Amino acid sequence: MHTVDPDSLETFAQIAIEECGSPAETAAIVARSLVSADLVGHSSHGVVRLPYYANQIDEGSLDPTALPSVEEAGLFHQIDGAGAFGQVTGRRAVELVTETAAEYGVGVVGISDSGHLGRIGEWADYVADEGYLFASWVNLQGGAQRIAPPGTADRRLGTNPITFAVPSFGVLPFNLLYDGATSQVAHGKIIERDGSGERLPTDWTITETGGPVEYATDFEDHVGALLPLGGKATGHKGFGLATMTELFAAIVGGGPVSTEPEQSWVGNGAAFVAIDPTVFTSREGVKDRISALSQYLRSAEPIEADGEVLLPGEPEYRIARDRREAGIPIEDAVIENLQAFADNLGIRQAFPETL
Ligand code: NAD
Repeated sequence: MHTVDPDSLETFAQIAIEECGSPAETAAIVARSLVSADLVGHSSHGVVRLPYYANQIDEGSLDPTALPSVEEAGLFHQIDGAGAFGQVTGRRAVELVTETAAEYGVGVVGISDSGHLGRIGEWADYVADEGYLFASWVNLQGGAQRIAPPGTADRRLGTNPITFAVPSFGVLPFNLLYDGATSQVAHGKIIERDGSGERLPTDWTITETGGPVEYATDFEDHVGALLPLGGKATGHKGFGLATMTELFAAIVGGGPVSTEPEQSWVGNGAAFVAIDPTVFTSREGVKDRISALSQYLRSAEPIEADGEVLLPGEPEYRIARDRREAGIPIEDAVIENLQAFADNLGIRQAFPETL
C-alpha cells in the first residue's frame, strides 16, 4: 500500500487527462472528481479509472474534447452527454438543476449518453452544499448488465444507483447523503478483488446452480450475476428499485433501457431532481429536524462492542477528513498500473511521490 498527497494526485490526474487530449478546463473537472472519489473512500471510482478512460479515448467511445449539449424548457432540462467525459456532464447537470431550483423552487434534469458519471454522491453533495434537497436515479443505458431478477442468475440490469441528499446547513459537519447501488454491492467492489485470489462473500452473487460466484475473476468472465439489494431473502426490493431506477433514468433522460443485446456502452443515463426546502419550511426547520432525528438515531444502544450509529454520508465524511490529513492510500497494483500509464504518456515526472 502507498499513500499519496491528494493535491499532488489531482495535479497528476489533470496532466494525464490533458495529455490524453482534453482542454485544461475539462481535465481539471475530471481530475477533481476522480480524486474526490478517492478522498471519500470510493477508490473504485477514483484515479484507478485513468487508464480505462485513455483506452476509451483510443477506441473512440470517449471524446476528450466534447461538451454536453442542453435543451431547455423552463423547469426542465435534457442533456445530451455527446460522448464527453461524464464528470463534465454531471457538473453541468448539477449547475442547471440548482440554478433552476433557485428560480422556481424545483429543477429537473434528464441526462442521456453521458460518459461514466462516477460517484453520484459527488453530484448530490454539490446540490446539498448549495442548499437544496437532491434525488437521482441513474442507469447504465443497456450496458454493464449485472443484476439478476430474483429467482434467476441471468444478468439483466446495471447496478443502477439511487442517491438522495439533504443539506445540513451546518448542524452536522456533512450533508445527509444516501448513495448506493441497487445490487448487493457496487460492481467496483468485485473489480477491486479481481486477481486477489480472495473468495467473494457468498451473499453478493448467484449462479445457475443457486450457489455464489467464487472469485472476482470468474464474475469478470461473465459467470453468474450480482444479486439485487436484499439478496436471496428480500432481493425483490432491490430488484424493484433497480427496475424503477432504470425507467426513471431512461424516461427523464431520454435514453434507452436494458435489452438484448447488451450494449458495449459504459456510460450513464440519469434523472436529477433538486428541491428548495425553504419553499416548505425555513432553514431552521430543516436544521431542527436533522438535529432531532440524528440525536434520536444515535441514541440507539449498540449491541456490539465497537458498534456506533453512523448517519448516511458519515462514513465518507470521516474517511475524507482523515485522508485530507494523512493522504490517500492506494493499492500497490493500482500504483504500478498508474506508473505504467504515466510512462506510456511520458509524464512519469508528474507522478506523485509516496508519503
Ligand atoms: P456503499 O454500500 O458503500 O454505501 C451506500 C450508502 O450507505 C452511502 O450513502 C453510505 O454513506 C452509507 N453507509 C455506508 N456504511 C454505513 C454505515 N455503517 N452506517 C450508515 N450509513 C452507511 O455504496 P455502494 O452501493 O458500494 O456504491 C458505491 C458508489 O458507487 C456510489 O458512490 C455510487 O454512486 C457508485 N455507483 C456508480 C454507478 C454508475 O454507473 N455511475 C453505478 C453503481 C454505483
